[in-house]
Amino acid sequence: MNSSDNNYDAIIIGAGLGGLITGAILAKLEGMKVLVLEKEETIGGKLFTFEHYEGDEKTFLKKLYTHSRSRLVDSSSDFSEMIENKTFSKYIIEGGWHSFINSDRSRQSFIAQALGENLKVFGNEGFRLYGEDKWEELRYLQRNWTKEDFQEGKVVSREMNLMSKEEAEEYDNIDLESFLRSRTTSQNVINFHLWLAGWEVGTNNPKNISAGEHIKVISMVHCAGKDFTNGGGGQPLGGHLEVARLFAKVIEENGGTIRVSTPVEELVIENYQAKGVKTADGIIKASKVICNVPMWRAINLIGKEYFPDEFLKRSEDMEPCGGILGWISTKRPLDPDYRGLYILPVLPGCKKSDGFTGDVLFSFEDVATYDKSRAPEGEGLMPIWAAMDIKNPDEIHNKELIDKIVKGVFTFMRKEYPDFDELLNWYIVTACEELYSIASKPGMVGNLRMPTKSPLVKNLFFTGDGTQQWSFGQSGAAGGAVNCASAVTGKDCSVILPFFMR
Ligand SMILES: Cc1cc2nc3c(=O)[nH]c(=O)nc-3n(C[C@H](O)[C@H](O)[C@H](O)COP(=O)(O)OP(=O)(O)OC[C@H]3O[C@@H](n4cnc5c(N)ncnc54)[C@H](O)[C@@H]3O)c2cc1C
Repeated sequence: MNSSDNNYDAIIIGAGLGGLITGAILAKLEGMKVLVLEKEETIGGKLFTFEHYEGDEKTFLKKLYTHSRSRLVDSSSDFSEMIENKTFSKYIIEGGWHSFINSDRSRQSFIAQALGENLKVFGNEGFRLYGEDKWEELRYLQRNWTKEDFQEGKVVSREMNLMSKEEAEEYDNIDLESFLRSRTTSQNVINFHLWLAGWEVGTNNPKNISAGEHIKVISMVHCAGKDFTNGGGGQPLGGHLEVARLFAKVIEENGGTIRVSTPVEELVIENYQAKGVKTADGIIKASKVICNVPMWRAINLIGKEYFPDEFLKRSEDMEPCGGILGWISTKRPLDPDYRGLYILPVLPGCKKSDGFTGDVLFSFEDVATYDKSRAPEGEGLMPIWAAMDIKNPDEIHNKELIDKIVKGVFTFMRKEYPDFDELLNWYIVTACEELYSIASKPGMVGNLRMPTKSPLVKNLFFTGDGTQQWSFGQSGAAGGAVNCASAVTGKDCSVILPFFMR
């Protein structure tokens, strides 16, 4: 390719959700000529799905690592044999558990709607918490609270729900536990919020939860007419790669191009102006360059000299969110009538005193009870998740701690479901080092993330879950994409979202 055949309005580096949503908005609503370059063989980035997988072991493991730095840590039988026996051929599984915050009223759903598309999402119907040796619906949890707990819980929730975004932002850099302790002495109220927020943000360590971020997210969920106690999560029909495909389709139908297996090697920057990118095929020019590459890799790709010192200093504290994830396939769902999520506040043998940064939350759902396309008729298919730190301390490479989590999961399942072993088809467990590009912790949220418009390089922009936005995961990537589209166009693109998601 020579540089004369390329006259794109925007080149987007990376076909993750952030890059694809930004590209779809610019192509469909602004008529811009967009080129998306993706280093991997498939689009989606951290949204990657094994659909009826019949490939080889090496490709499976490589995909896990290149998309989310995940590695296999356990399986129900020898993994090579599982692959040889085509164990996954009847299933749709992800690189780990993904759940959709706000289900059909998610940011992704509203953006799809604004682009004339319909994202098909199944909402979950409940949230069960394990307490006193049995599952309890979260909405009934408060039955066991004292009158004082109940009263204080109401006051705290009301304060959180009535805060404006700007008011909540004042608590961005304060940890949630300190915020709650300044408001209530009720341990039940504190635990309730810490469990929910730990689940949302993906951490066991209460000190790693930003109060401001939790307040904004909780309030968004309420304004969306959803509630963690009776839903609020969801699953797209056919798996999460479908979300990436939908936005890729919008780009292509509106004159854009997506090239996979095309890593960008460097940016072309002249006099602090982005002019294009360099790939193995040569230089491609564009009026604007949008980087969807997670921040620390973006710093190396672009060059430290193009970032403010203050941001580089802060980036030393950036860390992605990590966790133990996996899939358990059963001959039938453990509870065929329940389409909801489960939280166990402390996995057996995985308390803070067992060497973790906090008591380890364990959570799962059965996606086959909502989405029949994921598993053969009548079977159960459960994604599982437990959080682990990846830095200060590095838990995700600590074999002893990982083994404790894996043991805790199956000890719990066998105790709670006595026929678990009879029902088990297969399982796999992975350790993931990069769930969200940047963990949502105090000091690394909101405006402290990478700005969507480069402060130093003209015509260079950033998108994705690690850029300036609030919320996390897919919702964060969608928020970052809308903010990025606003920065690129100079218009307020957030009008495509309801006010409470802007
Ligand atoms: C196992 C797992 C479970 C998760 N669970 C949830 C969940 O339950 N709920 C939720 O909301 N979110 C969840 N997430 C997080 C969510 O998937 C991510 O936050 C979101 O997909 C991030 O999108 P992004 O576009 O910001 O980044 P990415 O998906 O990381 O996209 C970056 C893209 O850039 C590409 N790239 C990098 N370098 C180059 C280069 N030099 N040239 C070209 N391309 C390049 C990458 O290959 C990638 O495609 C989960 C993630 C994982 C991995």
